[in-house]
Amino acid sequence: MDNTTVIIGAGMSGLIAAKALQIEGAQVMVLEKSRGLGGRLATKRVGDAVFDQGAQYFTVKDPLFESWVAGWQVIGAVSPWPESAHRRFIGRPSMTAVAKTLADGVEVKRDHKVTKITRVGERWCIEVENHGYICAARVVLTSPVPQSLALLAAGGVELPAEFASELAKLTYSPCLALLVTLTGPCRLPVDGVTKAEGDVRWAADNQRKGVSPLVAAVTLHLSAEFSTRHYGLGEAEVLELVRSEAEQLIGAGIASVTLHRWKFAHALATHAEPCVWLPEFKLGFAGDAFGGPRVEGAALSGLAMARRLLAELRK
Ligand SMILES: Cc1cc2nc3c(=O)[nH]c(=O)nc-3n(C[C@H](O)[C@H](O)[C@H](O)COP(=O)(O)OP(=O)(O)OC[C@H]3O[C@@H](n4cnc5c(N)ncnc54)[C@H](O)[C@@H]3O)c2cc1C
Repeated sequence: MDNTTVIIGAGMSGLIAAKALQIEGAQVMVLEKSRGLGGRLATKRVGDAVFDQGAQYFTVKDPLFESWVAGWQVIGAVSPWPESAHRRFIGRPSMTAVAKTLADGVEVKRDHKVTKITRVGERWCIEVENHGYICAARVVLTSPVPQSLALLAAGGVELPAEFASELAKLTYSPCLALLVTLTGPCRLPVDGVTKAEGDVRWAADNQRKGVSPLVAAVTLHLSAEFSTRHYGLGEAEVLELVRSEAEQLIGAGIASVTLHRWKFAHALATHAEPCVWLPEFKLGFAGDAFGGPRVEGAALSGLAMARRLLAELRK
């Protein structure tokens, strides 16, 4: 009988779980709805300009994560952010390098959007848009929790009531990201600007970061309050609302803009466990809403999930 574990989502948590499982000889397949890898570790190209549009850097505190990061440093996929006053790491040449490194040699099916997960006897039947059905012995959901719950609801899967109500509390704030090119030289400091107030909360120059070698390309992240209020606006309208604040921060005019809407940007609560495995369902949950709302938290959640599954497989 096929013994595959299907992981839904090729973000940090899903990919590191898949890699850790594969290293130990487990059969694993990752299904990702997007063409690109990395989920919220995303990089976007617009003409000659290249932007890290989600996570901008990551921090490393846990020794286990540190050991993975050390390996990525050796092969040049990440480096400390040069000249940064903080201990921050960035992907090389961009944040998705980490995801690409993890996915190397792992069976990852991109452009595979899961629409429904149904329990059929002892197995899972996973409906994938335009690709029919995939069967699996086990499923791990790493999509943002509201999206995972929608997939289970579509398949008529009823989780234990207490656990379902814990999951319903795991909500996220949105983030509108403006990806802009400039009319003049950028004056942002090398490792970006974080602001505690205002509509623009983060600004970084992807050219100085090495992400966009040809063109000054600035990523702006707007506050959760602003992003919630103006989520449905178009890019020109959003830009007009923040233009003067943004241009003052950057020290140059904005020449062009592309908007990316992150609906589930930042996990607002963290589950008590770094991952959850339901043996009776052969179903797992991992991601930053379990391990903590950062890249490192997502990685630690994925690694915890892999450990839990390996214990299950060895029974
Ligand atoms: C704007 C922004 C800025 C951030 N800045 C930082 C930062 O500077 N430092 C930091 O440490 N963290 C930052 N974060 C948080 C960090 O990016 C996340 O905590 C982490 O990347 C989450 O990883 P994950 O694997 O849990 O989820 P995700 O990266 O969201 O991965 C989930 C994956 O599931 C896929 N998926 C969803 N539904 C389906 C489906 N139906 N079928 C198939 N696939 C599906 C998604 O496409 C995605 O690839 C930022 C996040 C955002 C959005």
